[in-house]
Amino acid sequence: MNSEPPPSETKVPHIVIIGGGFAGLDAARALARAPVRVTLVDRHNHHVFQPLLYQVATAGLSPGDIASPIRWILRKQENLHVLLARVERIDPPARQLHLDGGDVLAYDALIVATGVTHSYFGRQDWESRAPGLKTLDDALEIRRRVLLAFELAERETDRARQQDLLTFVIVGGGPTGVELAGALAEIARQALKEEFDNIDPASARILLVEAGPSILTTFPESLRASARRALDRLGVTVIEGQAVTAIEEGAVVFGGQRVAAGTVLWAAGVQASPLGRLLGVEVDRAGRVAVNPDLSVPGHPEIFIAGDLALFTHQTGKPLPGVAQAAKQLGKRAARNALRRLRGEPTETFRYIDPGNLATIGRNSAIADFGWLRLSGYPGWLFWLFLHIFFLIGFRNRVSVMLQWAVSYLTYQRSVRLITGLRGDAAPIERASAPGQRAPS
Ligand SMILES: Cc1cc2nc3c(=O)[nH]c(=O)nc-3n(C[C@H](O)[C@H](O)[C@H](O)COP(=O)(O)OP(=O)(O)OC[C@H]3O[C@@H](n4cnc5c(N)ncnc54)[C@H](O)[C@@H]3O)c2cc1C
Repeated sequence: MNSEPPPSETKVPHIVIIGGGFAGLDAARALARAPVRVTLVDRHNHHVFQPLLYQVATAGLSPGDIASPIRWILRKQENLHVLLARVERIDPPARQLHLDGGDVLAYDALIVATGVTHSYFGRQDWESRAPGLKTLDDALEIRRRVLLAFELAERETDRARQQDLLTFVIVGGGPTGVELAGALAEIARQALKEEFDNIDPASARILLVEAGPSILTTFPESLRASARRALDRLGVTVIEGQAVTAIEEGAVVFGGQRVAAGTVLWAAGVQASPLGRLLGVEVDRAGRVAVNPDLSVPGHPEIFIAGDLALFTHQTGKPLPGVAQAAKQLGKRAARNALRRLRGEPTETFRYIDPGNLATIGRNSAIADFGWLRLSGYPGWLFWLFLHIFFLIGFRNRVSVMLQWAVSYLTYQRSVRLITGLRGDAAPIERASAPGQRAPS
């Protein structure tokens, strides 16, 4: 690949951004009018609105509703070039990136915004049995498993095994686990009602297992209690203070008991993109890079870290949360400081403005904590709804999501109940569930 710019551009400084997530996009936009060349490199051609991934995983929305091509999003930015490539290595002394296929890309300043993914705490063998939710492919795989579980239960003649197939365990009681649990409960109790002959989908068991003392630890107790009540109304069993110690084919072990479960989903733990560790600087256990107050990397003033990959303690002394708003603000500041560095100006300390914390539980309930205002139940949900539509990128996405939500709100239907990902004309592969104890009801 020719990474050399045309001769007329060689004197224009080159800022490279790795990652087209929330941080990378906002970094790119912050440089829109700057006299620099910007290259944004991402291994995917699209940006995903991750807060709504659980809607794709639970058949409420299509992938195209929550993702847009990065090229299209940034099409009006004239100083920017988008490259579909995976960065495999950063060479800070040479100021070069090594891309898949052996290509090399030179930079004057670099912003690394490659995010995090789920961590199985060293138990990589759990990944195939309990998929996590980070990409569109993950969401489609979860959708496939969830819908297939009901189909397999319908074909099953043994009652006990039917119940095992209709047992869903979600590991991890953070916002993603809670959102998945709420949406799964609605599929089972509402969307699939009256469609099956041999099973009652409403009899599905949904267990949300959290190792820590409480679900939703980042929220105040009053809102957590409200979330627990909403989950209870949906028929989700919340199990707190019990760590999952094994995930086997068709069963999960926690609290010393082995529970047969046809579907296990993973919503616990994060690990940072490996690029952070590859820089050879200080990282935390999850691999996040400890950055300077101006978001530069210690010892490498021309490299900045933004988004979930940055380990940053904000002015209140708390670590920055791994949320979209923090990623966006970090992206902007990293871009402005990269520009200042290239101009020889002093860089500025990053200051986080905390806009609040939100989580939704099913179609009528959410919790929102803005410090000065706490909302729960229906008002919280209306606020959540408005915010998620507002921040979706692209007019088409907003209209489509609004319409789909309006229809599913009125009809209780989930419009995207497609089982995909089966190879050729293969029938759904029955996943054997090992005999375990029946799930607690
Ligand atoms: C299921 C889920 C639900 C969430 N819900 C919420 C919510 O409700 N509210 C909220 O505020 N936050 C939520 N978050 C968190 C929020 O999405 C993240 O904080 C945010 O996406 C972080 O942005 P980022 O730019 O750092 O990383 P990401 O958005 O993850 O983007 C990283 C980008 O880097 C690219 N990349 C990675 N490695 C390479 C490489 N080697 N080469 C090239 N490209 C690479 C990836 O393809 C990706 O596009 C949720 C996250 C998940 C997974």
